[in-house]
Amino acid sequence: MGQAPFNILLYYKFVRIPDAEQFARDHLDYCKSLGVKGRIIVADEGINGTLSGTVEQTKRYMEEMRRNPLFADMVFKIDEADGHAFKKMFVRYKKELVTFRYEKPLDPNVKSGKRLSPKEFYEYLQRDDVIVLDGRNGYEYDIGHFRNAIRPDVDSFREFPEWIRKNMADYKDKPILTYCTGGIRCEKLTGFMLDEGFREVYQLDGGIVTYGKDEEVKGRLFDGKCYVFDERISVPINRTGENVVVGRCRHCGKPEDRYVNCANDRCHLQHICCEECEKEHDRYCSAECREADAVNIDTAS
Ligand SMILES: [Zn+2]
Ligand SMILES: [Zn+2]
Repeated sequence: MGQAPFNILLYYKFVRIPDAEQFARDHLDYCKSLGVKGRIIVADEGINGTLSGTVEQTKRYMEEMRRNPLFADMVFKIDEADGHAFKKMFVRYKKELVTFRYEKPLDPNVKSGKRLSPKEFYEYLQRDDVIVLDGRNGYEYDIGHFRNAIRPDVDSFREFPEWIRKNMADYKDKPILTYCTGGIRCEKLTGFMLDEGFREVYQLDGGIVTYGKDEEVKGRLFDGKCYVFDERISVPINRTGENVVVGRCRHCGKPEDRYVNCANDRCHLQHICCEECEKEHDRYCSAECREADAVNIDTAS
């Protein structure tokens, strides 16, 4: 079996970047000249990126990054692919790598939860005294998550502090396991939880994506698929053959793990939808969205 022609990289690092705004501009030029596509966030506190390119392009990208002393020890997660996973190349400067509504600054290099390797995480998952908290949004949880994990009822990461204060206060003395896609969100989330008085907080090092690649664990106890922020939308994690579909079609409730965008341009809600219902509902998420479009077409004619 030959190697796929493209690679998709996922990486982050919390490290102080001097003149990060200028770095972001230069980095965009570099990425464009190399021909890779994707989305990279640069902040004073570090870098977080995901991009796709040919095997050769991504190899050169990683080599170039590691030549910079700031990023010499960067960990890249690599997925094989048949083509690009992004349409364009964005490099944006932002105040924070991940937006989080919290009064105090959080530096994962100073304080964050204890890192667990996939194998350690798998062992902790099987204890009956642990609380497993999904560190992602509700819609990511809905197509796949670790068995028995708590679903946070949030639509964006910045809502976590408020949600945790309201819903997790009873668990401050319990061991807490958190996980997210590639690990970056848990760096902040676990630091926040320690600040809030949670005594024992752990994070899955490298996230679900790394967990799925571990040859020993093989994605065990992850049910469904992992939501990703590129054109693939989701990727398989559990390679044991005992995988189950955990998503449910928004319309008929049947087990399903495909996401589609609502056909109404003003809505565009990404929702889980089976093929039959996509045809029947013309890819609308709701009767309201279908009717709104019908009215618009009527008035336009
Ligand atoms: Zn359906
Ligand atoms: Zn809609």
